[in-house]
Amino acid sequence: MNRSSFIQQAIGLGPQWQARSGWFEQHPAELDRQAIQLAQQQASLPPLTDAPPSPPTLAEDHLPAPAMVTSAAAVASTAASASAPPQVTDRPEQPLTSPQPQVELGWEQLEHAVANCQNCQLCHTRTQTVFGRGNPQARWMLIGEAPGEQEDRQGQPFVGKAGQLLDNMLAAAGLDRENDVYIANVLKCRPPGNRNPNPEEILACSSYLQQQIRHVQPTLILALGRFAVQTLLQTEQSIGKLRGQLHQYQGIPLIATYHPAYLLRNLPDKAKAWQDMVLAKQHFSRLSS
Ligand code: SF4
Repeated sequence: MNRSSFIQQAIGLGPQWQARSGWFEQHPAELDRQAIQLAQQQASLPPLTDAPPSPPTLAEDHLPAPAMVTSAAAVASTAASASAPPQVTDRPEQPLTSPQPQVELGWEQLEHAVANCQNCQLCHTRTQTVFGRGNPQARWMLIGEAPGEQEDRQGQPFVGKAGQLLDNMLAAAGLDRENDVYIANVLKCRPPGNRNPNPEEILACSSYLQQQIRHVQPTLILALGRFAVQTLLQTEQSIGKLRGQLHQYQGIPLIATYHPAYLLRNLPDKAKAWQDMVLAKQHFSRLSS
């Protein structure tokens, strides 16, 4: 199975996941894990609801405040594109699916489940899980890739220099990190050495993000970085091609932009990221009016 198909299934946009004949014989640990999960669900978790079955590094310097990296021409260009009729990419609307029976958890139950999760190999190398941060009732949801070294130590997403950069951009856009946004990652545990998440890990962790999105019910999603963007939009297109337009994830408007850690290593793209923020802000205003 290619990566795209796997990711589609991981985020619940692809066809129903079914193990091929002999798959479990080649992956006995997965069979054990699923059996244990099912037993735990039957023993202690709430019954399945009628809700539709729900649903993957980089480096770090100080950013000049976003306003300082913005050229007037860039903002004018962005403003012009945002005031035009919104360009929404045509993504197929498909029901969320998951490889395991989907159990809808309350927010605290979800936090507890993540904190104790051993669904993939990352549980053996993490210091702690990183569930998310911010206001679960926020109308903005920011989704990144996975915890890095600092996040793994502190248990919070987007800390360190990348987090400072994100905070600067949010503040310049008039958004408070704790009150106006909710921030989560595709993976809740740090891949060792900040390597890219692998498809099995994305699949194992997918239902947590899906449930977070359903709880938050954001007006707009800002997807940060290649992995989050490609995972949510089930595509392998580059951010360079995906940014600058309005996408949708399960009916929720989504803007794609660069990951702050990437921006710390690629100074010229900071202005583009700020354009994306301006675009997101303008679409948000339109959606809120
Ligand atoms: S990355 Fe996700 S699935 Fe894997 S152990 Fe952590 S919480 Fe569980």
